[in-house]
Amino acid sequence: MSTVYLIGAGPGDPGLLTIRAKELIETADVVVYDYLANKDFLGYARKDAEIIYVGKKGGDHTLPQDKINELIISKAKEGKSVARLKGGDPYVFGRGGEEAEELVAAGVPFEVVPGVTAGVAAPAYAGIPVTHRDFTTSVCFITGHEDPTKEESGHNWEVYAKSNSTLVFYMGVKNLPMIAGKLMEGGRDKNTPVALVRWGTRSEQQSMVSTLEHVAGDAEKRQFAAPSIIIVGGVCGLHDKLAWFEKKPLLGKGIVVTRAREQASGLSSTLKSLGAHVYEFPTISVEPLDDYAEVEQAILGLATVDWLVFTSVNGVKHFWNQLTEIGLDTRALGGLSVAAIGPATADELRARGVAPDFVPAKYVAEEVVAGLLERGVAGKRVLIPRARVAREVLPEQLAKAGAEVRVLPVYETRLAQQDPSELIAALEKGRIRALTFTSSSTVENFFALLPAETLKQHPEVKIACIGPVTAKTLGRFGFTPDIQPADYTIPALVEALTKGL
Ligand code: SAH
Repeated sequence: MSTVYLIGAGPGDPGLLTIRAKELIETADVVVYDYLANKDFLGYARKDAEIIYVGKKGGDHTLPQDKINELIISKAKEGKSVARLKGGDPYVFGRGGEEAEELVAAGVPFEVVPGVTAGVAAPAYAGIPVTHRDFTTSVCFITGHEDPTKEESGHNWEVYAKSNSTLVFYMGVKNLPMIAGKLMEGGRDKNTPVALVRWGTRSEQQSMVSTLEHVAGDAEKRQFAAPSIIIVGGVCGLHDKLAWFEKKPLLGKGIVVTRAREQASGLSSTLKSLGAHVYEFPTISVEPLDDYAEVEQAILGLATVDWLVFTSVNGVKHFWNQLTEIGLDTRALGGLSVAAIGPATADELRARGVAPDFVPAKYVAEEVVAGLLERGVAGKRVLIPRARVAREVLPEQLAKAGAEVRVLPVYETRLAQQDPSELIAALEKGRIRALTFTSSSTVENFFALLPAETLKQHPEVKIACIGPVTAKTLGRFGFTPDIQPADYTIPALVEALTKGL
């Protein structure tokens, strides 16, 4: 018999998962999840974990509650640990209590991992503290889903109406006219501020503030739908002053990242932290070589090399893998000078204890060559560990300048296997605001996966590219970049996106 973990997955922002929840998802044999729990979390699960979707969207239950209970119990009885993910907190309108009772009845051990509930988080992200000494002494979590034709209501509307409590309604959008009506009937001032927050804490978040009297009409006009939290009370008046999330420059804007998955995380996480909805569509896959004999020989011959020039983070990573593989370490570079083309490559070297002797201010071959010449590279032996296929400009110009250049392939890049249908659907729904291209190969591979003609049907989508070489490749496919930074770096590209979207 294994344990079942009833886990709160938070309201949507993946950063609002607890550390305990993450630990348990990482180790579970079976992950059972709901509609509202963020799908990103499934990426934490073990590769061999069984992943089961039991969610509900509105009234459409994929699996009825009793079947969910049976499923969880039978998995636990098979000796499998179960991570049962639920949106928000499992015990706040999540039927977690019922699941726990069933587990007890079946003799299955369980634990609860509380989560960040939407009723607190969505208002917080919309600039509304659910309590504040100037406005209220309590907060009430209320279901807005109760059938209004039910004879014996579980609600005591008079009490809600007469208290000065902040009222937080879950599942209440459909019944909003009834909710507002009952509260006014019970004596709450019709001018009481009311806020709605839809898809709180996610890049799609939207909010609106109105009053008890007008909220139903306003919500209908703005087509405010589920899932939304409704907040009633004076604290809603703080929305304008305390809003922060909705001020993020890229909030809700769909941006496609085409870099290799291994390299995408920096760009993706920066865009996400600015509020963007990131679509990762890796066009390149970075692969090790089949045979590393040549690299091994080169490493053993490092004593005869004067300059090591790294042109990419992957070059550093794969070079070091082989260094480690043959039992060597950073000291093997002892007598050498090292250049890093670009700040990310330089950081990758520093992480390995190597302070680069030269990092060009700008990555244009001329500048790199000039910088290296200043440092006496003419007549010296230069080794460039890099991708098997890459631009030859740097090695050629260094050779022309009198260096003895050797290119050493340490990894290769291939066209990623990628199904474009989800991206095409997002384009067609108007969800994409910009595409980002960070190298010529991302452009070439992108159009190998998604026809240029398809993209041409969406002139509203902005094309962002990192520099002139990539821009030229885009030109070959008939596109001119709308956004291009002066500096050819990822931070500069992000800044240009922020300004250009
Ligand atoms: N256990 C969950 C609530 C489940 S009930 C929790 O603790 O948050 C489902 C309702 O929660 C939805 O109808 C909606 O009212 C609210 N909800 C859940 N996630 C939300 C979000 N990101 N933004 C706004 N409301 C949300």
